Amino acid sequence: MGEELVTVATSYNIVEAEFLRNHLEDEGFEVYLADENIVGSYNLLANAVGGIKIRVPSREAQDAMRFVDDLRNAEIVEEDLEEIDSGYGVCEKCESRDISPYREGFGLKGVLLFLGIPLMKPRRKLICNDCGFERFEK
Ligand SMILES: [Zn+2]
Repeated sequence: MGEELVTVATSYNIVEAEFLRNHLEDEGFEVYLADENIVGSYNLLANAVGGIKIRVPSREAQDAMRFVDDLRNAEIVEEDLEEIDSGYGVCEKCESRDISPYREGFGLKGVLLFLGIPLMKPRRKLICNDCGFERFEK
C-alpha cells in the first residue's frame, strides 16, 4: 500500500537538507529526500530541480512541518556554537565569529604551490561573512 509523500521542506543546501533529515529521523519521522544527489553533485542544478525536497508520509506531514519550523528557528543557535570552534577568531569590526578563508581563484600562487616551488609563508586572507571585513590571518 503506497502512502503519499508530502514535501515538508525544501533546501538548496545539501548540508541543511541532511541536518533536517537527521533531526526529523531522530524524532521518529520517516524521511525521504528527493533530488539530493543532483543537488549535491551539481549545485548549479539546484535551482533547476527546485532544491532538495524533504518528504514524509502524509500522515506525519503536519507534525513534521511544525518540527522543521522549530528547527529552522533554532538553527541559528546551533550554528553559533559551531562557529566558536572555527578557529579563525573574531571579526575586528563587528565581532562576528562567522569567519571563513577568502577564496581566491586558482592563480599563479596556487600553481607554484602545486608544483612545490617554495614561497614565502603564505598568509591566508580571512573574510567576515557578516560584514565583509577582510584581514590576514596572524
Ligand atoms: Zn564582521
